[in-house]
Amino acid sequence: MNKNNRKKFSPESLVVADGHDPMGVLNSLKNPIFQTSTFMFNTAEEGKAFFDAYKEAGTLEERNKSLIYSRLNHPNLTAAEFRLAQLDGASDAAFFESGMAAISTTIMTFCKSGDLILMSSPLYGGTDTFIKRTLNQYGVEWVEFEQSASKEEIKELIRKHPKGSNLKMIYLETPANPTLALTDISIFANLKEELKSNDIHPVLAVDNTYLGPVFQKPLSCGADLNLYSATKYIGGHSDVIAGACSGKEELIQQVKNLRTTLGCMASPFTSWLVTRSLETVTLRMEKQADNASKLAEFLKSHSKVQKVFYLGFLSESDPQHQIYKNQQTSAGAMMAFEVIGGEEEAFCFLNNLELVKLAVSLGSTETLASHPYTMSSSNMTEADRIKNGITESLVRVSVGIENPHDLISDFDQALNQI
Ligand SMILES: *Cc1c(COP(=O)(O)O)cnc(C)c1O
Repeated sequence: MNKNNRKKFSPESLVVADGHDPMGVLNSLKNPIFQTSTFMFNTAEEGKAFFDAYKEAGTLEERNKSLIYSRLNHPNLTAAEFRLAQLDGASDAAFFESGMAAISTTIMTFCKSGDLILMSSPLYGGTDTFIKRTLNQYGVEWVEFEQSASKEEIKELIRKHPKGSNLKMIYLETPANPTLALTDISIFANLKEELKSNDIHPVLAVDNTYLGPVFQKPLSCGADLNLYSATKYIGGHSDVIAGACSGKEELIQQVKNLRTTLGCMASPFTSWLVTRSLETVTLRMEKQADNASKLAEFLKSHSKVQKVFYLGFLSESDPQHQIYKNQQTSAGAMMAFEVIGGEEEAFCFLNNLELVKLAVSLGSTETLASHPYTMSSSNMTEADRIKNGITESLVRVSVGIENPHDLISDFDQALNQI
């Protein structure tokens, strides 16, 4: 598709109809998998020109004209990145071989020894470990703010910190895994503006795995970068591990430079899978969210259920409700609920599911249930688990695209075994 046509169409159309030039590859309608490590130059002069062009390449067409070596760039990577950037309203995107590769490479791009990261809590376990243990060994410091903290209190936290003037990144995860705690991105966008007068210029990055790229657009709330575990909704079929970062081109270019050095770019097959999946991400997420609201309603009135945690149930008096309304367009398809009882009752429920699968991970076409207390959050201290509401009776659910009546009847029969 040429540049002018591209301007005429919306992201939902471009994500299925663009990202690949059939004329370049035997009129193949879909992008084939370019399972090659390197690309041939017709002449030495062309090789020289490709290296020059690679540094400047902006558009899809330009990138595919400067192919050199698959760690730098390859057509499947370009196609995936083009599509995600469309959906996120970003000028560029970068794909990685995992969510953790995307997150770690992005943080390392902007934070060096002696720098400070301000972060929300809880964070996904892998991210928490990377910042607090791995990165800390390289002299990068971190400070967490309380969920209830005001902007002034957060400013004070930075001012008082010995490395406050070296604040290089504000890292948020909203909704947080697994508690669904929400953070107001716009407060941090404002904070970032205010810090400019003190010559402090952090990059504002948001882990948008739970709702993006469909139900939440952090860039339009003032964030600089979106981060993803593309293993979840973007991949959406529990068949690939992948990650992504999208945002302003000048920032993504820096992230890509480090990615090239580290060598953690998405492979041709991984890129091909997510390119395919991005065509249906909106359809899938809408159906998943619809199923989730039906299942949450059902669970709310079940006699074996103590409490349901679902963003669609936030009461208007809850301070999180305003964030929810301003920041996201759906409650999404993640929920958790407490059974009446403890581990034994939760396990009884999980062991009796027939349709729903017992597994960690989320965002896939099939519904998954797990027990955070003994599984994904078992590395957290008892105090942190309790603080975040991760109890022995808590079951986490990622809702899929199955028939909602089947889901409800499976949950009902498994709960009734308790
Ligand atoms: C799964 C997940 C990650 C890590 O992604 P991987 O693809 O497993 O490396 C990061 N953040 C969140 C919120 C996640 O759910």
